[in-house]
Amino acid sequence: MANPYSQTQINPQLQKIICCPKDKSNLIINDDQKVLFCEICKENYFIKESVPILLSKEIIEQNNNSIPSNNENHAFSNTKKAHEKIPTGYQVKQLKSKSKIKRFWNFHKFTKIQKYLPKEGKILDIGCGSGAFESLKNTLNLQNTKIIGLDITPKQVIFAQQNHKESLFVAGSGHELPFKDNSFDAVVLIEFIEHIPKNAIQKLLKEAKRVLKDNGKIIITTPNYQSPYLLIEWLHSKFGKVNYSEQHITHFTPKRMRKALKIAGFNKLKITTTYGIAPFLAPISKKLALKTLKNEPITEFGCRLKLISIASK
Ligand SMILES: [Zn+2]
Repeated sequence: MANPYSQTQINPQLQKIICCPKDKSNLIINDDQKVLFCEICKENYFIKESVPILLSKEIIEQNNNSIPSNNENHAFSNTKKAHEKIPTGYQVKQLKSKSKIKRFWNFHKFTKIQKYLPKEGKILDIGCGSGAFESLKNTLNLQNTKIIGLDITPKQVIFAQQNHKESLFVAGSGHELPFKDNSFDAVVLIEFIEHIPKNAIQKLLKEAKRVLKDNGKIIITTPNYQSPYLLIEWLHSKFGKVNYSEQHITHFTPKRMRKALKIAGFNKLKITTTYGIAPFLAPISKKLALKTLKNEPITEFGCRLKLISIASK
C-alpha cells in the first residue's frame, strides 16, 4: 500500500501510550518510521509530519463513501465530515478575535477549568482542533504537564503539531481512543461533546474513563441548553463563519450531563454553570467583566450559558 504521507519519526513518549484504536494492542513501528502496524488486526496506520493517524479504516472509508456499517462509526464519520468544514486554525484564531466578547468567551472557558487541572502528569485533550488549549499551556501554568491533543481531522492536528512543538498530537476518534488503559491524569473535552451524536456519547465517555488513571479527572465544557444559549448560537450561525446549529448536535443541560456521567460510571460529580452576563460586559470594561465572572456563585442550576462538569474515575 502506498503511503500518502511524508516520512517523519514519532515521539518516544507518545509511542509508549498509543495503541491500535480497535483492539488496543501494541503498534509496531516499521524500520523506515513511516507506518505503525497492528499485529492483531493487521491494520497499517500512517505517520504524517510526526503525527500518527490512528483512525480506523471504517472511519476513513465511511468518510469516503458514506455507507454505514455500524451506527457509532457512521455517527463519528459524519462528525468528521462536519468538522472538515471548519477552517484550519479556526479555534486558535478565535482566541485572537477582534470581538472583545468572543475573546473573553474563548479565553475564560480555559481559565474556568484551570483549578481542576493537574499540575503535572499527562493531560489528554479530546477534540483539540488546531490546538487552542495547547497554545495556553504556559498561561494556564501547565508547564510541568504533557498535553496530548487528539482530533478526528488530520489537517487540524498537523497544524497544531507544527505550531506547538512542546505538546504531542494524534489524529483519532473519541469513540475508539488509540491509547492504552490508565494513561492519563486528566482528560479534557473543551466544547467538544456537543459535536458528538447522542448515540455515541456513552462510548466516548467510557473510552475517556478507560484511558484515565485511577482517580483521574474528566473535565467537560459544553454549552448549557438550559439557558438562552440557543439564541446566541442562532445569531452566530447567521452572521459567523461556522454554522454552529449544524455542528452542535447533542444539547446538554446540567441534568442530562449528570445522568450521562453517572451511566458511564464516573463519580464525585461536580456540575457547574458559568457565563451569565460577564462576557457581554467585556466591550464596556474588561475589569468589570472579570469581576462579574469571578463573583458568579457556583451552582448547577440557573440559566448561565456554559456548563462545566468535573468527575473522577
Ligand atoms: Zn489492531
